Amino acid sequence: MTDPAWQRELRAHFPIVTGHPDVAYLDSAATSQKPQPVLDAVLDYLTGENANAARGTYPWANRTTARIEQARDRVRVFLGDPAPDRSGVHFVSGATEGLRAVARDWLAPQLRDGDEIVVPYADHNANIVPWQEAAALARARGAHVTLRAMPYDDAHDYDAARLARLVTPRTRLIAATHVHHVYGNDMHVSRLRAAAGPGVPICLDAAQSVGHLPISLAALDVDFLVFSGHKALALPGTGAIWSGNRRGPAYAEAGWRGTPNTSGIVSLVAALDWLDAAGVDRIERWTRDLGARLTAGLAELDAYQVLGCQSSLAAASATQRRQGIVTFRHRTIGSNDLGFILAADGLLVRADGHCQGDEGEKTSSVRVSLHVHNSPAEIDRLLERLAALNHD
Ligand code: PLP
Repeated sequence: MTDPAWQRELRAHFPIVTGHPDVAYLDSAATSQKPQPVLDAVLDYLTGENANAARGTYPWANRTTARIEQARDRVRVFLGDPAPDRSGVHFVSGATEGLRAVARDWLAPQLRDGDEIVVPYADHNANIVPWQEAAALARARGAHVTLRAMPYDDAHDYDAARLARLVTPRTRLIAATHVHHVYGNDMHVSRLRAAAGPGVPICLDAAQSVGHLPISLAALDVDFLVFSGHKALALPGTGAIWSGNRRGPAYAEAGWRGTPNTSGIVSLVAALDWLDAAGVDRIERWTRDLGARLTAGLAELDAYQVLGCQSSLAAASATQRRQGIVTFRHRTIGSNDLGFILAADGLLVRADGHCQGDEGEKTSSVRVSLHVHNSPAEIDRLLERLAALNHD
């Protein structure tokens, strides 16, 4: 696998990458690095016409207001929403705040005694705690709400058949994740609609998919989609909720409560433009191939265990679309220690329980997560370092 010209060209857009040739940044699932055009867009805005939105009467303020409205459209189009209505897009500080807003402002007020919510307990805490909070808010009003655990199969995919049996007329929401942040698997969310039936709202945590694989809201058939801009090449403190036509009054106003993160929203638009121009499908193929190279290399080293269904490449390729996330453990070296050892060699990975719900404690591990700027040489360098520790 060689680095094609298009990839080398895109890698050159990341100043933090080119500025640190001794460092391999392998932690894009935690936060992404930013391409120069995103940084330029923010600087141009802040030095050109920075103003507050929806407040002023002068041109900079009006243009900022218009930018934010246009940004809502940009997000809608990027997500492949076929409806020409931007009012379903709201800006938030990230996926956590987005999921909390759906839970607190949209779901909690409608919960009644005996209602049920399906919660994916082996996913990221950001997609668990908000639903527990919604149930707690209902309980404070005297309404007992039951949280049902989303069923998984052996490949750590959602088990649509068991989900179908779990859904009742009292199911008020199913929370799901598009790409798992530890196992890297595409969770086949489009199958959930058939299992859930047409009337049950599905809220999708797309923190690890937006910017990594093409998104089609039409194909996903969910009611809410939430993502973090900072994981999709935009600045920290950015993210969005897409809520289609499911709006509640408090919730619909969320984007305009207080001053929006104007420069962050500018960065998000620039990031989505960059991703479209780069080709998200190309990025997806590149990072998946790098992930497969790493997985294959790890399979040669008996001290390492790859978590999730990536441990069985044949089974994985039969049913799973693996994204550029590979998580593993060493038989004897603790994951945090391994993280420190790798960092000393400029190999920046994530090491711990990865904010994973129920399984987090069990899965303290090292996660490598990739983006378009990563190269086969970086994977080989990592494998070489891991191989040197194989018999420790
Ligand atoms: N959901 C998933 C799947 C994630 O991986 C993360 C972050 O790692 C989040 C939600 C939370 O995102 P943020 O910290 O940007 O709010």
